[in-house]
Amino acid sequence: MKERGRTPAKHGAGTLYVVATPIGNLQDITLRALEILRSVGYVVAEDTRHTRKLLTAHQIRVPILSFHAHTSAEGLGRIVDLLKKGAQIALVTDAGTPGISDPGVALIQETVRHDLPVVPIPGPSAAIAALIVSGLASQPFAFLGFPPSRGAHRTKFFLQYASLSMTRVLYESPRRLPRTLQDILDHWGNLRLAVARELTKVHEQVFRGTVSHALDVYKEGTRGEVTLVVEGAPAALKSEGLQNVSWKETLQAYLDQGDSLRHAVEEVQKLYRVRRRDAYQAALHFKRHKDEEPDKGGFS
Ligand code: SAM
Repeated sequence: MKERGRTPAKHGAGTLYVVATPIGNLQDITLRALEILRSVGYVVAEDTRHTRKLLTAHQIRVPILSFHAHTSAEGLGRIVDLLKKGAQIALVTDAGTPGISDPGVALIQETVRHDLPVVPIPGPSAAIAALIVSGLASQPFAFLGFPPSRGAHRTKFFLQYASLSMTRVLYESPRRLPRTLQDILDHWGNLRLAVARELTKVHEQVFRGTVSHALDVYKEGTRGEVTLVVEGAPAALKSEGLQNVSWKETLQAYLDQGDSLRHAVEEVQKLYRVRRRDAYQAALHFKRHKDEEPDKGGFS
């Protein structure tokens, strides 16, 4: 292997190369990535058929081992054992950089835990590609991965990052896109965002606008791969001590303390980037709900 200056292998142990592969355009692979893929003893891949296509396109013949979300602890251990015995292994994922919201992270962590060398072979990642074309601040930014698909974890996820004053990057499935845009609108407000679809592919498209506009555009969902980039929360939230509080909760708090509907809406609008129409509708909903609550005083 021609590689120089990398982490020295200890006691003849092999190295785990974490190799980035294209997120669409097959030409987005580095010369170094190809050299590593050609020279290793094994390639560990999420979807062996998918990776076989990539390797065949570059005339690379190397045994492919499967590693995915359901690989058992023994399966993981077998790959680590190969490394211990001196095998050079390249870890690839279906698309982009292994370890970024994909199962590869478990193998990387296990390899590090065994104090074996791990070497990055950098290249494409959808998160970075989307961030750089979003037109939003590219630092600081937070990579949030996929929102949980449902339930309390999902609500907690959106609440937890509601007041984060840095650009937020999320992965999402095309099917869930409308629901996620709605949750962003409900919890984070009508911020500016970019919806980066099918990056580096034939139908690449970057929508830039507000969350409510994106909801209009994508109300029926979409196709292909999607990455969302959302501007940071207004800085005022932090100074007002409103961390982890969505605009709807703040609105409700104003109403609960007896503020008029108009004042509550105005205050929330000052703090968050929420459309007046949405804030009014939510305030009316809370008030109606409260008026309908059974009399807690019991029978008279
Ligand atoms: N490890 C990969 C990386 O570094 O980009 C990401 C793996 S994650 C399982 C797959 C998600 O990445 C997709 O659901 C989508 O949100 C995003 N993604 C992948 N390819 C994309 C593309 N070409 N355009 C936009 N987003 C993409």
